[in-house]
Amino acid sequence: MPATYASPAAEKARADHEILNAFYGPVPKAPRRTPMRELISTVLSHRTTHADEELAYDRMLAAFGDWPGVLAAPTAALAQAIRTTRWPDTQAPRIQEILRRIAAETGGAFELDFLAEWPLDRAMTWLIDMPGIGLKTASLLLLFNFRKPVLPVDAHVHRVAQRVGFLGPKVSVEKAHAVLPPLLPADAEALFNFHKHNYWHGQQICFFQRPNCPRCPLKGFCNYYQEHYGAATAEVLAATPAQWDPAAWGQLPH
Ligand code: SF4
Repeated sequence: MPATYASPAAEKARADHEILNAFYGPVPKAPRRTPMRELISTVLSHRTTHADEELAYDRMLAAFGDWPGVLAAPTAALAQAIRTTRWPDTQAPRIQEILRRIAAETGGAFELDFLAEWPLDRAMTWLIDMPGIGLKTASLLLLFNFRKPVLPVDAHVHRVAQRVGFLGPKVSVEKAHAVLPPLLPADAEALFNFHKHNYWHGQQICFFQRPNCPRCPLKGFCNYYQEHYGAATAEVLAATPAQWDPAAWGQLPH
């Protein structure tokens, strides 16, 4: 039975997962970056464009050579090296504190591979205790790099889930990290695909302003659609694309 506007949250979440899986296709499984790069880059990326984040990262390592060099650098000099980011004076001491804690845990190895061996709860607690690392960043690292079964929730995932109606309108992004996973299969591959697909959906179709509902394959059970257009008819559903069309709409970012 396909999900409907009246379906319970778990049914809508499953339908969202299955339909977007078919719409966007499988997601490459390789992590984009090493765990160290992922962690430090997410600190640099706060309210900063991807290009400026990458520039800051490259300049930091060019200036100080390696992680021991970044840790030993004068904090003001580190802030200067990462000045393309939004708040370099805040981020520089944070990066050094994160490096200090990693070095203390590993005996100075500056790597995070030990997290693969740790239980999920321990790894999550250790990461979110770091300055500037929240639930989303910790979840991204543990899912993308270590394939732990957690769900990162960003603004896109949050918006799509609320509009479709499997997340309550008052549930915050933070709280959604605990509310959404029980609605989904408890394995890392499924959560990875759910995250990527809903992230793309928020970026490419379910925009913050003026979502492109005519193109959306979720309209048959999306509360927002029903409120704004009325229930989708069989003709409307039949005319809705079943797959992302890269030739017409462009390549998806990975
Ligand atoms: S139907 Fe519209 S509001 Fe609902 S998920 Fe799709 S694009 Fe977003």
